[in-house]
Amino acid sequence: MSDKRVYNFSAGPSMLPLSVLERAGAEITNYQGSGMSVMEMSHRSKVFDKIFQDTQQKLRRMMNVPEGYKILFLQGGASMQFSMAPLNLIGKTGKADYAVTGNFSNLAYKEAKKYGEISVAASSEDKNHTYIPTQDQLKLDPQASYFYYCANNTIYGTEWQYVPDTGDVPIVCDMSSDILSRPVDVSKYGIIFAGAQKNMAPAGLTVVIIKEELAGHELPYTPLMLNYKTMIDKDSMYNTPPCWCIYMLGLVLDWLEEQGGLKGMEAIKHSKAQLLYDVLDSSRLFTCPAEKGSRSDMNVTFRSVSEELDAKFVSEATAAGFTNLKGHRNVGGMRASIYNAMPVEGVEKLAEFIKAFDKNN
Ligand SMILES: *Cc1c(COP(=O)(O)O)cnc(C)c1O
Repeated sequence: MSDKRVYNFSAGPSMLPLSVLERAGAEITNYQGSGMSVMEMSHRSKVFDKIFQDTQQKLRRMMNVPEGYKILFLQGGASMQFSMAPLNLIGKTGKADYAVTGNFSNLAYKEAKKYGEISVAASSEDKNHTYIPTQDQLKLDPQASYFYYCANNTIYGTEWQYVPDTGDVPIVCDMSSDILSRPVDVSKYGIIFAGAQKNMAPAGLTVVIIKEELAGHELPYTPLMLNYKTMIDKDSMYNTPPCWCIYMLGLVLDWLEEQGGLKGMEAIKHSKAQLLYDVLDSSRLFTCPAEKGSRSDMNVTFRSVSEELDAKFVSEATAAGFTNLKGHRNVGGMRASIYNAMPVEGVEKLAEFIKAFDKNN
């Protein structure tokens, strides 16, 4: 069956490593002699508790999460964090700074405005989100309760190449589409969050890494389930966590370890992206809207000379086994999402396909 798999360039949910799917498949009806599937277990059972603890520890080790930080396995998607972050953090001064560099940071900004005085620290809307603002362009308020940004703009194909310096103001970062693609210095952040379905696990899990001292200052009307403290105190088990996804994350982390961990993955993902950008930059037909220096290694956006030719490209690519290359409706054109699980070979073949298309049209 596996030889019929396509190269799936979906932006999310997206590819998982084949070996991970195969291992999950092999264990699906009887997990390591327990006589049942991970999907059928009590989340409070000994067997599942081990899966949970192991996965948490593996993630802590891989991301080098320091003491004083808690890893939470939640539900509600990255989008729920758009509400959870302000509800829990804005009480400090009633103000927060947001960098609006794409669709998801804009949604987060709009949601946060319900709870306090939110300033746009920088926006890339003037150039249709084709660039990332520089440190000098950030208008930072030292009185802000937190500074918010989205590390990788999944739709526009731009990625922050630096961690903003915000002084003593804690940083909240949406890393949904580039977490685990490179080492990050967690100690520079107050909260890192990510929906799992791009680079970690199947949809249904949201990973939150939070500096513990930031929790416990929520607005008084914060729903119990949206209070970080509830989940910190109960180690993500106030209620049923997304058990299957946590198990799958554990398998993905084992696989990542085999790729050389985050350092290894950083080199792999960068060379994959570079290969595509080089081919696109030297083509006659294609251009990349994202400015050099702001380009994403995870989501490569590009377009041809006309919408008709874009459609032809997408349809011929699909027929050739490269699926989900149509760009987001906000942007048009094409987008190749090349997360960790996209094999190098898939990118090499796509690069060849782009070259041939460029020659023949
Ligand atoms: C996909 C995505 C989201 C939305 O995630 P959900 O889990 O569907 O809520 C938010 N932020 C970024 C950067 C994304 O790529």
